[in-house]
Amino acid sequence: MSLFSDLFNEARIATQSVADYVTGTGLRLGVTGLSRSGKTVFITALVHHLLRLSAETRAQRSFPVFRVHAEGRLTRAFLDPQPDDAVPRFAYEDHFADLTGGADGPDLRKWPQSTRRISELRIVIEFERATGWRKGPASLALDIVDYPGEWLLDLPLLAKDYAQWSRETIDASTSATRAHLAADWRGFLATLDPSGPASEEQARRAAELFTAYLRACRDDALALSTLPPGRFLLPGEMEGSPALTFAPLPLSEGAGIASGSLAAMMERRYEAYKSHVVRPFFRDHFARLDRQIVLVDTLSALNSGPSAVRDLETAMTDVMTAFRTGRSSLISTIFRPRIDRILFAATKADHLHHSNHDRLEAILKLLVERAIHRAEGVGAGVDVIALAAVRATREASIRQNGTSLEAIIGVPLAGEKVDGEIFDGKAEAAIFPGELPADPKRVFRGDGLALPEGENDWRFVRFRPPIAGQIDGRPAPLPHIRMDRALEFLLGDRLL
Ligand code: GDP
Repeated sequence: MSLFSDLFNEARIATQSVADYVTGTGLRLGVTGLSRSGKTVFITALVHHLLRLSAETRAQRSFPVFRVHAEGRLTRAFLDPQPDDAVPRFAYEDHFADLTGGADGPDLRKWPQSTRRISELRIVIEFERATGWRKGPASLALDIVDYPGEWLLDLPLLAKDYAQWSRETIDASTSATRAHLAADWRGFLATLDPSGPASEEQARRAAELFTAYLRACRDDALALSTLPPGRFLLPGEMEGSPALTFAPLPLSEGAGIASGSLAAMMERRYEAYKSHVVRPFFRDHFARLDRQIVLVDTLSALNSGPSAVRDLETAMTDVMTAFRTGRSSLISTIFRPRIDRILFAATKADHLHHSNHDRLEAILKLLVERAIHRAEGVGAGVDVIALAAVRATREASIRQNGTSLEAIIGVPLAGEKVDGEIFDGKAEAAIFPGELPADPKRVFRGDGLALPEGENDWRFVRFRPPIAGQIDGRPAPLPHIRMDRALEFLLGDRLL
């Protein structure tokens, strides 16, 4: 009965969204990426530009690669109520006010609150068709869906029972990079008897320590990427609920789980997590996306060294499991995504001089090579780009000891350090970010945090958002890098 009603629901939802798609008037764009990859800033900038572009004069056209705009066919764009009443709205106005300082003035500008849960925003784009028999006015309702990339790592859980997940998670915690972070949790685990009586107290303590371990992996200087369950770090609306109060237990393969035991309690909650959290997310949100941008904070991983780069590579490949889901599996028959374009974007390219943007793109391409392979397996078109949704720096050539060095200039965040100097968050500074290697494979080499001698020639400082300039007495648009290219890939063909 429950499988039947599930399938019925899934079919109903699929039909609704296909109707939107077939009429060509709707497009659902997913924006994802691991924590701090730049989702909130990207969406805020994207909406800001779409809302303002149609007011630009021919001479100003600042998005030359975005065809509908460059050809003067963009008539208007406006925010409209989103179709899904149960999903929080993306707080565009608040985020934009944070970035610019809003009514409080530019001194108070700051980066907005990052993504913590799913949210959505609809923007309607009105345009003139390019040519041919369909010439004339048209519109596209673009639904932007923002969600944590960590949640995608949960899909494989649907195919695993509690005992298998427990074994794999405990095994992973013994690796050289993770063992010291897992010590407290593993210490407590050693005191537990899975076949002993169920205890809420023990379940809570185990869940707390396990979550602290997952958090430590994410926050560690090695920037290890996240392990499932994704909601343990980003619980969204589930915070504190029993479906999140479980943790792995050592269970021998094939041994049964006695009813009333601690293991039975944990198993029930693990299954509840799958049915109340994982499945609805994939069915109601992920499976309805048409296009996807995956943001990757490549520079932070480069800053942390080769093991963080390799770890990020693994996480991106795992994330893409959700897009591929092998044709024969049960999961694929339920959740087969219909995404036809995926853009991988290395964010925060404004931390580099423009001469290095192509190198950053080449590094990302290598980093997501296996992930791309998965995406192409479902027939999606894939592209890779280095961009800055909000460009916080400008460039300058500075002469030092008779040679000219390429620098970037911006206001480093208070507390950032370079060569022993600590910045106050107010003054501008010129930084020499160094060169990314011409051979992208170099960033994967080496084992430790530090790069091999002589190879550590890149360095990044976090900057405050830029102060918007003025054009004809009105605030100038937020500066960016390659946002027009991103928009053209994601939307261009639907605005012809
Ligand atoms: P989310 O967790 O994916 O929503 O990440 P955010 O969009 O909140 O971005 C995390 C942080 O990265 C921000 O607070 C900024 O410090 C930084 N950031 C994001 N995008 C940019 C960008 O385009 N340029 C610069 N310089 N920093 C950025």
